[in-house]
Amino acid sequence: MATALVTGASQGIGACIAKRLAQDGFDVAINHLPGDSDKEKALAVAQECRAFGVKAECFAADVSKFDQCEDMVKQVKEQMGSIDALVNNAGITKDSLLARMGEDSYDAVIAVNQKSVYNMMKHVCPVMMKQKHGSIVNVSSVAGLYGNPGQVNYSASKAAIIGMTKTVAKEYGRKNITCNAVAPGFIHTPMTDVLSDELKEKMLEAVAMRRYGEPEEIASVVSFLVSKDASYVTGQVIEISGGLSM
Ligand code: NAP
Repeated sequence: MATALVTGASQGIGACIAKRLAQDGFDVAINHLPGDSDKEKALAVAQECRAFGVKAECFAADVSKFDQCEDMVKQVKEQMGSIDALVNNAGITKDSLLARMGEDSYDAVIAVNQKSVYNMMKHVCPVMMKQKHGSIVNVSSVAGLYGNPGQVNYSASKAAIIGMTKTVAKEYGRKNITCNAVAPGFIHTPMTDVLSDELKEKMLEAVAMRRYGEPEEIASVVSFLVSKDASYVTGQVIEISGGLSM
């Protein structure tokens, strides 16, 4: 059975991706932040994944920390047997206009959103090389493609992910490892629930489909990118935004 490791999978898009990949027949390794409440949420996601008849286990690690990623990848390999798909989904926002953004907010977002992708690919790629196959999907954002006021930290991290995705695709293509990115637009999750109704309405004016996306609509594209149907797709960024950029 193939195994998919999904970071930040205790809620939102990550939880939805984990469940979709379980439905597709993957055993699922569910990463969550260390801590009781995160573990509880991750255990509930694992329970839902097991309903599809696959193995699902939870692995605590702060993915911004290099050593914790190294330990987690070792544990996943030992307990699940292989890592066939990696989805780098964990992410945070700490929004404010550049004039008011402190160094702490900038560094924190870069560490969780960008450094984590390096940490995870650095430790997972050798495993995939030994297996002679693997697929990686990195969760970027439309903010990384077009910028977004109040998100200079977040936009920087998500733009960097696109460069990292294309580089890893070029470095590992000959090893039968694909690496792609998805760039979601405005998606209904706890991350966007905190925005004011006024801002939500305003954002929708730029969306051709005039609605927010659902986490399932991100999970279905990730499901394709890690499937055999996408075996010749690498180094691509797929925007999932209801037509935001047109
Ligand atoms: P979310 O509901 O806040 O979920 C993010 C997940 O990442 C949570 O489970 C969170 O755990 C986890 N996480 C945060 N820091 C972590 C760390 N250091 N180590 C391990 N896990 C960590 O957000 P979401 O909307 O589902 O976002 C998922 C991804 O999609 C993010 O990369 C985000 O940037 C991207 N995205 C979202 C949207 C959108 O509109 N929602 C649009 C474009 C891109 P806790 O709950 O414990 O913090």
